[in-house]
Amino acid sequence: MAQQNPFEALMKTCESLSNNLLSMWRWPSKPTASHGGVSSELALPDKGYVVKPLTKEELGRSTWTLLHTIAAQFPEKPTRQQKKDAKELMAILSRLYPCKDCADNFKEILKTYPVQAESHAQFSQWLCDAHNIVNRSLGKPQFPCQRVGARWGKLECLDGGCDLEGNMDFPQ
Ligand SMILES: Cc1cc2nc3c(=O)[nH]c(=O)nc-3n(C[C@H](O)[C@H](O)[C@H](O)COP(=O)(O)OP(=O)(O)OC[C@H]3O[C@@H](n4cnc5c(N)ncnc54)[C@H](O)[C@@H]3O)c2cc1C
Repeated sequence: MAQQNPFEALMKTCESLSNNLLSMWRWPSKPTASHGGVSSELALPDKGYVVKPLTKEELGRSTWTLLHTIAAQFPEKPTRQQKKDAKELMAILSRLYPCKDCADNFKEILKTYPVQAESHAQFSQWLCDAHNIVNRSLGKPQFPCQRVGARWGKLECLDGGCDLEGNMDFPQ
């Protein structure tokens, strides 16, 4: 049987530790996307990763996730304030969304297809249709809106604590 080098295990551990440290401390070698000529890539060694500026696609996916999840939790019978909030949220997005072309395109969508938020079903269908209009303009496939409830659900949250109205009935 081959003799095991007693230091082999220790050397492997040291090597793997130093590799991990090196990958955590990977400072940018060259600027990526920049704002005003300054690289906005940032190493966060304590978190073990490098943060980079979002792409338009990543921002879009995150925003749609937020919007469809809001729609999934929109009440069956929204209050007047909740209907107003849903409309204002879309109007604000069409002004402040951090991609100017997207915001402008969305403003046009809202003009031709105003927000419908009289009920949960109406709002989630409206949002699905609005998302499909963006999809079409980008040459992406249409999503079957009758299946929007299967794709986007409420947050998984104990005791209804994520419901819009909240739930104060916590177990003792
Ligand atoms: C308000 C808004 C306007 C935008 N305008 C532009 C623009 O003008 N130009 C541009 O380049 N990008 C725009 N984007 C980004 C773009 O829509 C996409 O988010 C991005 O291109 C990434 O696309 P994706 O294929 O990963 O899926 P996304 O379109 O981001 O969708 C994410 C997920 O949602 C699901 N999904 C897809 N369609 C629907 C639907 N109709 N209803 C419900 N769920 C659906 C799918 O499971 C998909 O994987 C916009 C984003 C937003 C939020």
